[in-house]
Amino acid sequence: MAGHVTEVAEGIHRLSNGVANFYLIEESGKLVLVDAGAPKDWTLFAQAALDLGKAVGDLDAVLLTHAHSDHVGFAEQARTTTGARVWVHEQDVQMAHTGKVGPRDGRTSAYLLHGAFWRTALVLSMRGAIKIIPVREVSGFSDGEVLDVPGSPRVVHAPGHTDGSAAILLEDRAVLFTGDVLCTHNAYTGRVGPQIMPSGLNADTPQALASLANLTGIKADVLLPGHGEAWTGGVEEAVRQARAAGRS
Ligand SMILES: [Zn+2]
Repeated sequence: MAGHVTEVAEGIHRLSNGVANFYLIEESGKLVLVDAGAPKDWTLFAQAALDLGKAVGDLDAVLLTHAHSDHVGFAEQARTTTGARVWVHEQDVQMAHTGKVGPRDGRTSAYLLHGAFWRTALVLSMRGAIKIIPVREVSGFSDGEVLDVPGSPRVVHAPGHTDGSAAILLEDRAVLFTGDVLCTHNAYTGRVGPQIMPSGLNADTPQALASLANLTGIKADVLLPGHGEAWTGGVEEAVRQARAAGRS
């Protein structure tokens, strides 16, 4: 299955395998990835870099919003091939490093009647995302930290989906990468609109709902989620709708 690339804000490109989004940022002649798709999405990244007149070696950093397999993706290949540093919140470092995922608070059996569930399972298995490919060297970031990475991204910790789930803010560009803290397409039910991830994929769903408060007050014109389309209706409205949608 071919992926596709869309410019979602100036110098920010969404790469998608059809289920999970990851993002390529152009900044000061360098490239930064927010998430690394599924393991087989390396070619999608390499082609996108070429199309921008860059080389994969221009990659400076891979910022993971959390350590699930459809976000860690090809991070290890990126690290070993380009020397880019891989970052994730300190509470997800262990998961990224070992590939071991903790328990989820919802049952997968709740989604078996949804076509979206089967489509997600099929796409992610074809893209090699059934298991996390461990990253041998991972740097941990913490809440509020401004990273020494092109674009000076700031970390907004918002646990629940995983313990170390985080959003990443590019303050200068008013762009917020929400990872799986807040998505706009439900990979298990197909529902569209701002919402937290389905319980079958969350470590702690009540905590994920509570963590939405960590996004409020952030100035961002564009929200770029791990799953679904970009949201331009404002942070407060996205949070309001996600709370109203509740658990799934
Ligand atoms: Zn996830």
